Amino acid sequence: MSALIVDVPMRMAVVADEERCIHVRSGGARCESARIERSERCAIHHEWFNSHAAAMGLQFPEDAISLHRMLGAVLGMVVSGRVGYKSARSVVELCKMMQNNVRAYEEEVREVERDFRLGKRSSSQ
Ligand SMILES: [Zn+2]
Repeated sequence: MSALIVDVPMRMAVVADEERCIHVRSGGARCESARIERSERCAIHHEWFNSHAAAMGLQFPEDAISLHRMLGAVLGMVVSGRVGYKSARSVVELCKMMQNNVRAYEEEVREVERDFRLGKRSSSQ
């Protein structure tokens, strides 16, 4: 009996580490998208990083974990009096909508990152 050994080379990431977005997702994986000009982040994370919500310390809502952490932060803001009940209620309603969209969002992000690895997209797209 003999075994056939097939050497399948690992596909190299199209975006070099030093050109990748610095954002680390809730699960610990670093964003694989390329940085935009004059930023350490990709377009999506750059936009969030410069938002009022991020300035208040809220997580970028890109998966169930980050949504949960966002709601926990909002709870802390309500308890500490930093935001009113009406604002917090609006955030919760928005989080519900985001939760309904998060699977589609994650799938599209995976598709974009896969396309980058396969060279089907460039960082300017
Ligand atoms: Zn990113």
